Amino acid sequence: MTSTTRNRLLAIAATIGLGALAYTQTQAPAKLSTVKLADNMYVIHNDFVPGNTTILITNEGVIMVDDKYPVDADNIVAEVKKLTNQPIKYVINTHHHGDHSGGNPTMQKLGAIAVSSDQARKNMIAGKQPGLTNITIEREGHIYLGGEQVDLYYFGRAHTNGDIVALFPKQRILATGDTYANDPGTPELVDFDGGGSAIEWPKTLTKELTLNFDRAVPGHGTVASKAELAKFRDSTQRLSTKVHDMLKAKRTKAEVEKVVRSEFGFQDFHVQASLDGLMKELK
Ligand SMILES: [Zn+2]
Repeated sequence: MTSTTRNRLLAIAATIGLGALAYTQTQAPAKLSTVKLADNMYVIHNDFVPGNTTILITNEGVIMVDDKYPVDADNIVAEVKKLTNQPIKYVINTHHHGDHSGGNPTMQKLGAIAVSSDQARKNMIAGKQPGLTNITIEREGHIYLGGEQVDLYYFGRAHTNGDIVALFPKQRILATGDTYANDPGTPELVDFDGGGSAIEWPKTLTKELTLNFDRAVPGHGTVASKAELAKFRDSTQRLSTKVHDMLKAKRTKAEVEKVVRSEFGFQDFHVQASLDGLMKELK
């Protein structure tokens, strides 16, 4: 295993809160690069893991989706400063994992209001995470700032039990959090401890796909089209059907492991983190 791979897996372990690794961080700050999405809208991307922060700049402040690990927060603020003097007004956490909400204490100190689902906030409390969100939504919420709008939706369980997506209707862009990942190093990963579900995941994505957007910013990976998100939804359905059918046919755990590795991109870490949970849920 290369050290990059090991670091990457450690980081993912931290994000899904496995045992003693919960919310710990062992890595140095990620190297960030900013990609333009639309007028006044950008993704701050890092190669490491690789995660995405989405920002929309308005004339009354900045709206941000996900703020990575605590160690990255100052660098994210510096990236935003390169683009605008506007303050960061809202930070939306798509879910409770440390690589999506870890920057909250820094952003809140700067005056930002953090927003998540009710459930994600409960998960943050359970994980003793700092920087709890200030506003929560149950099913749907809207933020209006500087003539811009962001629509927040909770569509059900997927990666965790508290995932929300953020729709920028004018820009026709959806920030999906970890309900969608398209990097080969981050396959579909159900955080069972965090209430995730392989059965519900495709249903949740089907609801996401009813929204009006052209491009999706995944939690991990590169900006994609709506059609690519639909393809990922199909693959989450395929995984769940395949494992269920194998278990019904009395296939062994080793056989299931072989399939999730060869067909769904699982590596050692993903097998260790979620194979037992998949077998339990999909039997
Ligand atoms: Zn996550």
